Amino acid sequence: MTRTKAIIIPVTPFQQNCTLVWCEATKRAAVIDPGGDLQDVERAIAKAKVTVDKIWLTHGHVDHVAGATELKARRKAAIEGPHRDDLFLLQYVVESAGAVGIANAANVTPDRWLEDGDRVQVGELTFDVLHCPGHSPGSVVYFNPAERLAIVGDVLFAGSIGRTDFLGGDHRQLLDSIRDKLLPLGDDVAIISGHGPTTTIGRERATNPFLQ
Ligand SMILES: [Zn+2]
Ligand SMILES: [Zn+2]
Repeated sequence: MTRTKAIIIPVTPFQQNCTLVWCEATKRAAVIDPGGDLQDVERAIAKAKVTVDKIWLTHGHVDHVAGATELKARRKAAIEGPHRDDLFLLQYVVESAGAVGIANAANVTPDRWLEDGDRVQVGELTFDVLHCPGHSPGSVVYFNPAERLAIVGDVLFAGSIGRTDFLGGDHRQLLDSIRDKLLPLGDDVAIISGHGPTTTIGRERATNPFLQ
């Protein structure tokens, strides 16, 4: 029986996959990438009957983080991640939100920056932190080895990879991150991406046109 539960809540005009992850044993939860539409996130939290302890950010783009500061205030949850190299993006949230139609945005000051090899915890669950720059300099991936689950933000998508034409993006670095950090996790690992459907490492290794 799985000890991890997850619900995906698409938020913002970008249909960003905000993900509520919780430990079934303790009902303690983390909200990953609360980019906005907090009423929808709150509805999922209430339905799951969980207590939110943590807010985890995969990277600093506005559609992933614009609701984090407000959710922290409401839930008294600690913001962890991304890597410090996305600081410039977290300070630019309010300025960029208006232009893309995201309401109630706030800049973000994480309670904890994450480094490659760090671990984050919620309830009895532990996720390994993988620093995967390329889409943004400070992108991180959250990987639960026991549950074979990785939450990858905009590093890797079903059939595609993250854009690298934003400030701080680097296509070669992104491919290196995917090859060196994600593919070795194993073909059986389930992937929740920042946008679009879920997939697996194995499916992307075999069919993703950017990885052939
Ligand atoms: Zn992004
Ligand atoms: Zn995104």
